[in-house]
Amino acid sequence: MSLPSRAEVVVVGAGLAGLSVATRLVAAGRDVHVVDAAAAPGGRLSTTRIDGFLVDRGFQVLNTGYPRVADLDLPALDLGFFWTGAVLRVDGRAHRVVDPRRHPTTVVDTLRAPLGGPLREAALGAFSARAGYLPVPRLLSAPERSAEESLRRAGVGEQALEAFLRPFLAGVLLEDALETSSRYLDLVWRSFVRGRVGLPAAGMQSIGSQLAVRLPAGQLHLGVRVTAVDGGSVRTEAGTTDADAVVVATDPGTAAALVPGLDAAAPRQVTTHLHVLPASPWPSPLIVLGQPGGQLVNTVVVSDAQPAYSPDGRALVASSTLAPTREADVRSEIARAHDVAEADLEHLTSVTVTGAQPAATPPLQHRRPVDLGGGLFVCGDHRDTPSIQGAMASGARTARAVLRRLGGSAPVAGEGR
Ligand SMILES: Cc1cc2nc3c(=O)[nH]c(=O)nc-3n(C[C@H](O)[C@H](O)[C@H](O)COP(=O)(O)OP(=O)(O)OC[C@H]3O[C@@H](n4cnc5c(N)ncnc54)[C@H](O)[C@@H]3O)c2cc1C
Repeated sequence: MSLPSRAEVVVVGAGLAGLSVATRLVAAGRDVHVVDAAAAPGGRLSTTRIDGFLVDRGFQVLNTGYPRVADLDLPALDLGFFWTGAVLRVDGRAHRVVDPRRHPTTVVDTLRAPLGGPLREAALGAFSARAGYLPVPRLLSAPERSAEESLRRAGVGEQALEAFLRPFLAGVLLEDALETSSRYLDLVWRSFVRGRVGLPAAGMQSIGSQLAVRLPAGQLHLGVRVTAVDGGSVRTEAGTTDADAVVVATDPGTAAALVPGLDAAAPRQVTTHLHVLPASPWPSPLIVLGQPGGQLVNTVVVSDAQPAYSPDGRALVASSTLAPTREADVRSEIARAHDVAEADLEHLTSVTVTGAQPAATPPLQHRRPVDLGGGLFVCGDHRDTPSIQGAMASGARTARAVLRRLGGSAPVAGEGR
């Protein structure tokens, strides 16, 4: 159905931010139309099927510790979970580092892992307890440093930092200098302490699909590129729609192009190589970390956590690098990480995602303005934090702002951090 010539609200972008705004406004009884240039909702969370395997566009996971997960129907996503922790290799030997609260039988493995000894591991435990259980306002008012400096001050030690924390966090923050704000590190670490990470049975795109079906029929317009916006109208290749409020919920680069003067960018990128193995080499669903000096940030048998990603029980492996790499550059490193023969790795596809995430360097600006005035609003992960949580929280915050402008009350829950 084509866009009407008039709507109360037009949301540009059907990623998690745009869908979060739109579903909240619909729940508040507003007439909302959502426009997206892509063929499916979900934005950066997109999934395709290749040779029967579910392939997300870059390795990504849903963390159930995110406050805004409350907006999702988690049982319907049918998540398959990773264990909280990682495998690290030192001198060729694999060591499991696992959250002992969830998997008590692994405690001996974790104590024996080369993390610098019991005092260092206790420091990491104290860091986790602080991030996991202090109130968020306390975390956000703590002195702000780089993530690396914060970890060093916490006393985690050189070994744990280099063998475990740096590669683990590089996979989350998409940067390995650990220049990210300590405040964002606290929020991210909190979500790991409080939640579990998993993959939906139908792939990461199904998170967006789940929100999109909450929109009334005919109010999501896919395959329509917006070329210009202001507070009272949206121009597309197919025509112009007038509106009382316009929400720009695109990726940061497009937002900056549509809204002159907007400070928004997503400098983080990642390259992910997908391989198939005849079977998983691992007994438990854990991310395997890259080693110092290597190119891999991590490599992971995603079908160990979510068997539905494989059509036939073979193992689907996702391996990520921060710098763009070719499959041939990292093939032997992937084989070594999993202790399998290179010949067993069947290459499925590779993808480089530029503009994967905004940076969250100090000073963390996790509540950037969303109401630009005159009926124009902007939301997305670049307004809050570079994550699913940030996108959805920004959507919640923007929905409030739009309702304030339209003059109505709304069933809008707190956005959380
Ligand atoms: C490889 C990768 C790994 C990640 N890993 C994780 C992870 O493990 N955990 C996590 O929490 N986060 C992760 N993220 C980040 C997370 O995916 C994003 O923060 C979040 O999805 C951003 O949502 P958004 O709605 O703000 O933007 P987007 O998802 O970018 O949505 C913007 C939408 O706008 C549309 N659009 C753009 N231009 C136009 C136009 N001119 N007209 C109409 N529509 C337009 C796009 O098609 C898109 O649908 C990862 C991201 C990537 C790429």
